[in-house]
Formats: sequence, C-alpha cells, structure tokens
Amino acid sequence: MKILVPVKRVVDYNVKIRVKSDGTGVDLANVKMSVNPFDEIAIEEAVRLKESGKATEIIAVSIGPEKAQEQLRTAMAIGADRGILVQTDDEVEPLAVAKILKALVDKESPDLVIMGKQAIDDDSNQTGQMLAALLGWSQGTFASKLEVADGSVKVTREIDGGLETLALKTPAIITTDLRLNEPRYAKLPDIMKAKKKELETLTPGDLGVNTAKRMETLKVAEPAQRSGGIIVASVDELIDKLKNEAKVI
Ligand code: AMP
Repeated sequence: MKILVPVKRVVDYNVKIRVKSDGTGVDLANVKMSVNPFDEIAIEEAVRLKESGKATEIIAVSIGPEKAQEQLRTAMAIGADRGILVQTDDEVEPLAVAKILKALVDKESPDLVIMGKQAIDDDSNQTGQMLAALLGWSQGTFASKLEVADGSVKVTREIDGGLETLALKTPAIITTDLRLNEPRYAKLPDIMKAKKKELETLTPGDLGVNTAKRMETLKVAEPAQRSGGIIVASVDELIDKLKNEAKVI
C-alpha cells in the first residue's frame, strides 16, 4: 500500500501571530515556520502503518515556496520515504491545492491519501473534501482511529454526541483529527538520513494546474483586546451583573 501525505508549511503553533500594519495579511517576517500539526499526525499515522507492515511507501508532498523543503525533510525524518515539492511563491487556495494533489495522485497512484483536517493558518478545512470530490474517492474526515485491512479502511470519527465508524473502500482520502495519535520527535540520526532522501521539485505548471486566485482578502484585523475579568462576591451579585450589566439573562 502506497500512501501520499500532503504537508503544509505554516506558522508554528506557538508563535503569537502579528497582523501586518496595512491589514493585508499576517506578518511572516522572521517567524518560525513548521509542519501543520494535523499533517504531522498524518505522517505519524502513515509511518505506523508502514511499521506494522501494512504500507510499503510514504510520499510527502508540499505545495509552497522553496523553503517548504524544510517541512518535507521533517516529514522524511519522521519516516516518509521521499518528498515532492510543488514549488510556488504564490498563495495557493484550497481548490488549487486539491487540483495539484489530484494531478500527483494520478501520477503516483497511492492507495491512501492521509492529510490534515485543516491547516492552522487559513483554517479552511476544505482541501481533503475537495480532493475526494475531484477524484471520486471515498473520504473519512476527522479520523480519530484508523484500521487498515485488505482493500478497506475503518475510520472512527468524533461527531457531536459520540463516535461514528465508517468502512471505506480504498483508494480513499483520510483527514486527521487531533486524537488520532501523538507524533514522535524525529531522532538526530533520522534527521541526518532524511537529508539524503529523494526530493523531487515540480511546478504547478508541470502538473497543468493554474493557481490564479479566485478569492480576494479584503482585510485582516487583530481580534478585539479582551478586558480583564472580575471576581464577584456572591451568586446574587453574579446574577445581578448578568441581568443588568451584561444583559444576557
Ligand atoms: P485546509 O483545507 O487549507 O484547511 O488544509 C487541509 C489539509 O490540506 C492540510 O492539513 C494539508 O494536509 C493539506 N494542504 C493544504 N494546503 C497545502 C499545501 N500548500 N501543501 C501541502 N498540503 C496542503
């Protein structure tokens, strides 16, 4: 079984985001960039499938600037066998990402694509679903458990009020939720080994995909500053404040 894992280069989740002074976007100058956390979970799951003998090859793919090679090397240090960078300095929207991934699926013929449920920079939560639609494949989104058997995959999903288990035929798209696994830290020897793994570079044009934007960002703004809370002396005072000051009850 061959697995394709898309990994997006995003601002590290520990970084406090700053909005550019002209309100056109997020300031990325000198900011630590990392693998999107949900994609790290996807790589870990693919590596566990390989370790248990169910997968034979893991290909990590990133669409982004030359520096996204760093995130592909991280994926390879965790255990991906090779990487493909679809290099572009343009901002690529989910539909264009899905079209690029479809072209790579057509080229590589994986049995599974395991990807994040969302990228923590744009929070779109669209690419996996769009890719499944473009390919006409089954999809198991927000997976918190994955069981792979010959020709089928069982996906447990966390939904409102409980768990849902789907049986999917392969090939399929799986998107990862936070509780699927806890990704390992790459060990130094694996980081060194990853530097020698194959990394192919393509462009969206090589795959016949036009990445021209269809959406325009009108404005990006910081959330309103929170004012501090207060400690009330009694339940009566709390009810009074909720009724007469906050006017929510
Ligand atoms: P989104 O729909 O933007 O929230 O992203 C969902 C998932 O699609 C991410 O977790 C990644 O697995 C994949 N993805 C989105 N953008 C990219 C990209 N530029 N390169 C590689 N994978 C991506």
